[in-house]
Amino acid sequence: MSALKLGLKLGCIADDFTGATDLANNLVRSGMRVVQTIGVPTSPLAADVDAVVVALKSRTIPAAEAIAQSLDALKWLQAQGAEQIYFKYCSTFDSTPEGNIGPVTEALMDALGTDFTIATPAFPDNGRTVFKGYLFAGNVLLNESGMQNHPLTPMTDSNLVRVMQAQTKRKVGLIDYKTVALGASAIRDRIATLRAEGVSVAVVDATSNDDLHLLGPALKDMPLVTAGSGVAIGLPANFGLKPSLQASQLPAASGLQAVVSGSCSVATNAQVAHFKASGRPAMAINPAALMNGQSEAVVQQVLAWAAPLLKDGPVLVYSTAEPEAVKAVQAQLGVAEAGALVEHALASVARGLVDLGVRQLVVAGGETSGACVQALDIAQLQIGPQIDPGVPWCHAPSETGGLHIALKSGNFGTEDFFSKAFGVLQ
Ligand code: ADP
Repeated sequence: MSALKLGLKLGCIADDFTGATDLANNLVRSGMRVVQTIGVPTSPLAADVDAVVVALKSRTIPAAEAIAQSLDALKWLQAQGAEQIYFKYCSTFDSTPEGNIGPVTEALMDALGTDFTIATPAFPDNGRTVFKGYLFAGNVLLNESGMQNHPLTPMTDSNLVRVMQAQTKRKVGLIDYKTVALGASAIRDRIATLRAEGVSVAVVDATSNDDLHLLGPALKDMPLVTAGSGVAIGLPANFGLKPSLQASQLPAASGLQAVVSGSCSVATNAQVAHFKASGRPAMAINPAALMNGQSEAVVQQVLAWAAPLLKDGPVLVYSTAEPEAVKAVQAQLGVAEAGALVEHALASVARGLVDLGVRQLVVAGGETSGACVQALDIAQLQIGPQIDPGVPWCHAPSETGGLHIALKSGNFGTEDFFSKAFGVLQ
């Protein structure tokens, strides 16, 4: 198959799966037609879109592997004609002194032959703001936000210039809020000054979407942008694109509807309770019942329960439970084993529901989403309309007409999310 000659504008590399969707969602809302791929595709892009987000799982793997995967993604994006590259990481700058944000940034700069980029995780819509180089999560500094206790990437310093400098041999500087407020030309002047001082990575202050819109034009023609998902809102305008409903248009939805939930987050617990209270059919999966090779039998029971109900509207299959119940199961099975057992069962349920004719599927939980997407053999997702901040409907094409799927990470979404999601597609 030869590559279509498409006008791919932005090529994005995201260091995790739900982060990729978050970025894609911001781009769509700012007027770009976007496809998200699961890993680096092995064939050329087959859709006419403005941006592609390649979703990697490279946030906490060894830096050398993260670099190798990111360079693979870069090569593929360049082969599709991407005009600008965007390396997307978490809005809490999840990393360690070993990386992976610094080393991946450096490798991408080398590969692109560029000597300057920015680094800012600011995402004001989600309460992540950068002021004088310090990252705030909500009303507190990052290192007081709970992120200082993260099991894999504890963030104990909120000064992003220091954090980034610890991860890179290149010199790191700051474009502060006063410069940003003056707009693109002042930002460009500041970049020229920093360059003259030997700086090649600049942390940029941004405390509002206005700041991100002021920053956007200054990034036109910068070969590489590194950021959280926030900076994306200022980029589509550089390519002459404006927010439009067309960017989020997906093929018409049809088929049966279902929700699969493996998230045990506070918001998801409330969403499950709300769905049940609304009188819709819901079936719980008890992780203990999956032990001793019983998983497949449980999956078949669930599918037999769902089959006659689906014609009357959405059904919910969930393992979602309150923290005490989760802890009890984890004590019995081990944390990783319990997670894997439940993810595998829910992924089989998702596969079975699609075999029963479900074509509109909501999945709750980041890891659960990963497992379901894998079980459903989904390689590419076109990003559609937003249900709630950070959660868009997506469309996965297939020979059987395709599947509309929404992947909701734990604490996203309002209480009525599972009911209202389907309304967004109508
Ligand atoms: P979130 O986005 O809320 O973090 P995830 O799907 O990423 O949700 O993570 C939830 C994890 O908890 C998954 O590994 C899932 O399999 C596991 N899990 C789900 N339900 C239960 C349960 N009842 N007991 C123990 N573990 C569970």
